[in-house]
Amino acid sequence: MKCDRCTKDAIFFRPYSGERLCIKHFLKSVEEKVFAELRKYVKSGKKVGLAVSGGKDSLTLAYMTSKFLQKRRIRNVEVKAIIIDEGIKNFRDKAVKIAQQQLSEWNIEYTVFRFNEEYTITIDQIREKVGSRMTCTYCGIFRRRAFETLSKKLKLDLILTGHNADDISQTILLNIIQGNLKHLARTEEFPGTIPKKKPLRKVLEREIALYAVLRGIRFYSYPCPYSREALRNEIRNFLFSLEEKHPGTTYSILRIGEKIKEKIYYQIEVKKCKKCGFPTTRDICKFCELMSSLRGI
Ligand code: SF4
Ligand code: ZN
Repeated sequence: MKCDRCTKDAIFFRPYSGERLCIKHFLKSVEEKVFAELRKYVKSGKKVGLAVSGGKDSLTLAYMTSKFLQKRRIRNVEVKAIIIDEGIKNFRDKAVKIAQQQLSEWNIEYTVFRFNEEYTITIDQIREKVGSRMTCTYCGIFRRRAFETLSKKLKLDLILTGHNADDISQTILLNIIQGNLKHLARTEEFPGTIPKKKPLRKVLEREIALYAVLRGIRFYSYPCPYSREALRNEIRNFLFSLEEKHPGTTYSILRIGEKIKEKIYYQIEVKKCKKCGFPTTRDICKFCELMSSLRGI
């Protein structure tokens, strides 16, 4: 089996397009997709944040962003990685270590935001207080606030995240199954919050994994021990087997998601949290509500 783009042996077959590619052209094909996205967001004079968790997607994004900047010689772009350490022993500590090593190797500056230091409590401790059912709610809301706080402190213009095509399609299906039209619809960006973009949005998870391995990117590959996303896991497996049997399904779902966004628009009424002043749709934002609930326990 020969590569479609040269005379070398192919190592990869892309079922949804029928392409056969050698190592060099497989890597190039993934980079073409991601660089096309990066070109839309990473412009001269911008200060770009990279959300890095230590997993394969975010570290691949960090690697590609640095490669993109070197290749295109875009001047005046500052890239700053943001690592959030929620305080989950034997999980995030290990992932953070790998992230720090890789980012240093690629000369990407980073800042670590530690729940322990900033909120004086870790997710391990929160879990003991609130129980396993609520842990991810606290973790997600606290992490989102961490991104906002750091973006302001570092004066970032936008944050790039490592969500891939599978992640986004899973979220679309999840919202359909849960009947959550609001989350499927287009909403204006919350004024005062940092714009977030997903340069890996057109690449399948399995291709990112292969890219990372072929490029020798080290990453932490174990899931969080507190993950309770049972429904999302079922959707992930369902989508994976659909993609195997019917290549291109993931992209069809992505396109449907985009079409829904084009058609339905929700206007959000944005207020200021009475406690912290952050933009919210409520009187007291979810972050402040959860923070005070912890103090009350
Ligand atoms: Fe946090 Fe839950 Fe994700 Fe673990 S699975 S990192 S606890 S949101
Ligand atoms: Zn608040």
